[in-house]
Amino acid sequence: MYAADALTSQGSVPVSVDILDRLPCPFGLVRYGVAPDHLSIRSVRQTLEKFFDRPGVRFLGNVEVGRDITVAELHRYYDAIVFTYGAARDRRLGIEGEELAGSIAATDLVAWYCGHPDAPRELIESSLQGASSVVIVGVGNVAVDVTRVLAKTRAELEHTDMPEHVLALLDASNITDIHLLGRRGPVQATFTTKELRELGELDDAEVIVDSADLVLDPFSEAALAQDRVAARNLDVLREWSTRTPRGSRRRVHVRFLTRPVELLGTALVEKVVVERTRLDETGAAIGTGELETIGADLVVRSVGYRGEPLAELPFDSRRGVVPNDAGRVLRDDAVVPGEYVAGWIKRGPTGIIGTNKKDAAQTVNSLLEDAERLPLAVEPAHDAVTTMLCARGIEVVTFDGWERIDAAEIALGVSAGRVRTTMHERDALLGVALGERHSPRPDAGDPPIR
Ligand code: NAP
Repeated sequence: MYAADALTSQGSVPVSVDILDRLPCPFGLVRYGVAPDHLSIRSVRQTLEKFFDRPGVRFLGNVEVGRDITVAELHRYYDAIVFTYGAARDRRLGIEGEELAGSIAATDLVAWYCGHPDAPRELIESSLQGASSVVIVGVGNVAVDVTRVLAKTRAELEHTDMPEHVLALLDASNITDIHLLGRRGPVQATFTTKELRELGELDDAEVIVDSADLVLDPFSEAALAQDRVAARNLDVLREWSTRTPRGSRRRVHVRFLTRPVELLGTALVEKVVVERTRLDETGAAIGTGELETIGADLVVRSVGYRGEPLAELPFDSRRGVVPNDAGRVLRDDAVVPGEYVAGWIKRGPTGIIGTNKKDAAQTVNSLLEDAERLPLAVEPAHDAVTTMLCARGIEVVTFDGWERIDAAEIALGVSAGRVRTTMHERDALLGVALGERHSPRPDAGDPPIR
């Protein structure tokens, strides 16, 4: 969206932009990643939505590149392609027991509570039902989001746009304890202070921190002097470590220098074996051999997102990004004419939403610099691509279709006394967007491009 903005807000090169998305809805992580209770961050959607009002900007939703249209075909219709498909997969822990039932990826849990059509509903819902003690691995902002959402009461979540069944299942949850584990110290945690502080302000959950976890080694002392966010985080954690428990329904135990080494259980996860760590002189966590067991019937692995390759595009599997130079896609170190990247698939899964604005602007600068040399589209006609997709039976959702989804979600919310309710199922979204034109598509398997 920020790439489209940068392209259409400059005056030197006339541009029209199609925004293709494999989902029927635009806005990516703003809709399906930002925590539903972070209303002010989610409201950036209103800014993004305005880009669709610009002449020449179109939304073509429910179109999957690599399935409905190939990259080579995209070059037939467009002079340039900017890939901004993010980092949708989870990183793994690489420990024994990781595959046990009840061990889930934060990426899947987030997708589920945001109502992503491809979220593994059965897996998440069966894992949450009956869980009472949760271990969350990682101390980034996603781990904090997940902790907060699991620890909140229904009243604290009702004003969100979560799907109704998500709200009901969270409301019925038996969770009493959430253990948030950082493998390094508090100074190395990647959460930000505003997000951290929210954990201490929950209606019926309290934070428990052991002051022994906040004693700093020389490496952390030195790092703290250079890092204002870490210093503010430490202030918050120190204040929490002095609090007297008030007997809330839920407890959030924030722990550091603790890493999981094995998940134990027969069919379901039952325990997490953790090891005390210390930092070496480079700041990396190394095991001390001191082990402890935490009882847990749900483990959420929140150790970062990971980009995936897209057919026909080069991929750096070590970094999980498409190799690029200032946004220009590189194949064997040479620029691929007319191909660009922006966002997490360009630089990796870091930063806040605003980071992507700057990132997209850099890519668009590169694209505009190349404008004279781009390999021109063979079929640049406005409707050539949509005609081809329709001929293939692809049910393209345009911006009008999205507006129908938007209106339907607001109406659904109002009918339940809420502001808005996200529709979870792809079929329901398509039904609303396309009306009678929608016929359920055989989704199983991977129909090749015809
Ligand atoms: P992240 O900030 O990179 O955090 C990943 C966490 O996982 C770190 O604590 C990391 O510890 C830990 N980790 C990695 N491998 C591990 C392992 N094998 N064992 C134990 N722990 C391990 O990533 P994220 O939380 O997924 O967030 C992604 C990006 O989105 C971040 O830039 C984040 O700030 C942003 N975001 C922002 C917001 C917001 O602004 N409200 C909300 C959500 C996400 P080490 O440091 O030791 O590697």
